[in-house]
Formats: sequence, C-alpha cells, structure tokens
Amino acid sequence: MPGRHFLQLPGPTNIPDRVLRAMDRPTIDHRGPEFADLSRAVLRGLQGVFRTQSNVIVYPGSASGGWEAALVNTLSPGDRVLMFDHGFFAAQWRRVAERMGLVVDEVACDWRRGIDPALVHDKLASDTSHQFKAVAVVHNETSTGVTNRIADVGRVIADTAHPALFLVDVVSSLASIEYRHDDWGVDVTVAGSQKGLMLPPGLCFNAVSAKALEASKAAGLPKSYWNWEDMLAFNRDGFFPYTPATNLLFGLQEALVMLENEGLPNVFDRHHRLAEAARSAVDAWGLEFYCERPADRSDTLTAVLVPDGHDANRFRSIVRDRLDMSLGGGLGKLKGRLFRIGHLGDFNELMLSGTLSGIEMGLSLAGVPHEKGGVAAALEYLIGSVP
Ligand code: PLP
Repeated sequence: MPGRHFLQLPGPTNIPDRVLRAMDRPTIDHRGPEFADLSRAVLRGLQGVFRTQSNVIVYPGSASGGWEAALVNTLSPGDRVLMFDHGFFAAQWRRVAERMGLVVDEVACDWRRGIDPALVHDKLASDTSHQFKAVAVVHNETSTGVTNRIADVGRVIADTAHPALFLVDVVSSLASIEYRHDDWGVDVTVAGSQKGLMLPPGLCFNAVSAKALEASKAAGLPKSYWNWEDMLAFNRDGFFPYTPATNLLFGLQEALVMLENEGLPNVFDRHHRLAEAARSAVDAWGLEFYCERPADRSDTLTAVLVPDGHDANRFRSIVRDRLDMSLGGGLGKLKGRLFRIGHLGDFNELMLSGTLSGIEMGLSLAGVPHEKGGVAAALEYLIGSVP
C-alpha cells in the first residue's frame, strides 16, 4: 500500500528516523575504546530515565528476559513471591516465577482497575514471619490499559517495614509515564526497548537498588546469562561479558538524547495530552473503556471494548487490511473482546488524529455500532489544550 503503515500497537512503537539513522552504521569493536565510550554514555543516560543513582543493566533480550533476570538474581528456590492477578502480563511474569521454582502467592484482582495499595499493605502486614521475599507488580498493564500507583504501593511497603524486595515492570510506561525507581522504593525495575524508548525490540533492562544488589549475593536460583555480577564487573570498564547488541546501543544513545532534549516532564505531558484526546474520542464514540476507573486509565494505551456480539479481531483485521494500520488486540481471556490503541513513544497530534480517523472509519466498515464524532471530539480537545 502507498504511504506509511500506522503501527499503533502499544509496542513495538514507531521508530524515529533519527534513531534508525543512528543504528545504520557498521558495528564497532565491542572490546575497544569507542565502544566503552558508547556504553558509558548509555548507562549514564539510562539512570536519568529510570530516575536512579544505582546501576541499570542492559541485556540483549526481550523484556521477558528482564523478568527472569529480576527473579534469578534476587531469589532462591522455594522463595515466596507476592503477585497480583491484574492482567495478562502480570500472569506471564507469574508463570516465569513458577518455572524458576519460586512459590507464588497470587492475589485475585479486578483486571478493570488498578491494584488497591491497601491490599498490598494488608498482605504484607499479615505476613509477620516475613515469608514473602518479593512483591511484584506491573506498573502499566499493557493488556488492560490500567496504570498502577507504584509510588503508593512503594509507600505502603515502606510503612509495613516488611523486608520483601519490590519488583516492578515498567515495560510499557518507561519514558512515557512518570516513574521514579529510587524515590518510590523500587528494588528491581524491568523494562524493554520497544515502547517508550522508541527502539526496535531486542534490549531489556534491570535497574537495581543497593538492597537488590545485596540480596543477589545470597540468591540461590541458577543463572548464567542473566548474572548481574558478571555484567556489573564488565560494565565498570564500559564492556559486556558477552557480545552486546551494539547497533541497538547506537539507537539507544540517540533515543536518550531525544528524551533529554524534550525533557522527561514534557514527554510525560505529551503522552497525557494525547491520551486524553484519545479518551475524548472513545467517549464520543460511546464505546466502553476496559479500564473502569478514569484515574487508572493509561497514558500509553487505551483498551476499548467492542459491544457484545461484535468481534474486535474482525474489526482489527479490517483496519489492517483496508487502512494499513495495526492496533493491539485482546490478550488471553480478552481475545476478541477489545482493541488497544497504542499512543506512546515517537508520537504526536497528527499521528494521533490519523490513528483515530482510521479507527472511526474501521468501526463503520466493520459495522461496529458507535456514535460519529470521535475524531472531532479529539481535535477539539487538542485545540483546547495546546501547550
Ligand atoms: N511486560 C509488559 C507490561 C509488556 O507489555 C510486555 C510486552 O508487551 C512484556 C512484559 C513482555 O515483553 P517482551 O514481549 O519484550 O518479552
């Protein structure tokens, strides 16, 4: 099809031309001084994005590898982990934990709203013998479009004085929604390259607190590729214990410059404003948000239910085949029930307008009942909220 494909998944996201150009160069000697300069710059820049003074580890791997790395470096076989059934990705992380030989205590939650920090408080306060070695939460559940209040969860963990490590997945929120690894008391933050960082898939990250590093000394789960100790020892001189994803690091360096130039607070404001505009469109269409609580709605994606008797995947296929736009679908038990609009990363007002236009056309083409005027409502919002 002529023109550009609209990649409006909640990740992978659109890659800026600047990042593509930065990666389009010969791979350099990963044991030489030029590489050491590159990795030092990238590791320093990442600390700013994660809002941490501690180490950020970069692996060649998808974010699922980052989940595994967070667990195997901090825990021992049979350790108990407190997790919450709050979405598809939270469930995937639980599966990784169980496969690693951990014992997961999963708390049932309503997928349509954020985790109640009071629930975390109660679970930890009643664990007087400190059985839980870690608490794991997904900041932004990409399957549901719900954002959790990590600062509040971190606060209740601190209030209980429970020694459990706090592990947080920011795969679809980093560099898009405010996040503070140090201030919010997080011990391991897990992220990936393909969303807010505007890179292709292929890198994952662990930001590691001093407490997590201390815990890693006694952690008994087997590990080799994911071993923090090896990685940190090599990183000290600007190197990696194995062949790094050098060209992705070129791209990351450029993406970090772009984020710094825009300024993280402005990046967050831009995401919020575009998300509000998208939500205005959904409201005007008269469609239902999967996330029931407005305050919990994500600024990086919006999950929209289709009315009963309609298939969200058929709608998505029509949008893809006729209009050349990819939207996210329902995952797991939500298959066919909703579509997800990605509005994160390298994204602006006109890209959003095109995206919403495609959805409004697609709803008509697919015969999904809706009111007209979603695009107009979003444009009104954007006009009225020019920074
Ligand atoms: N966590 C969240 C919140 C995600 O959205 C995803 C993927 O979309 C993952 C983890 C897994 O990431 P990956 O597919 O890169 O392994």
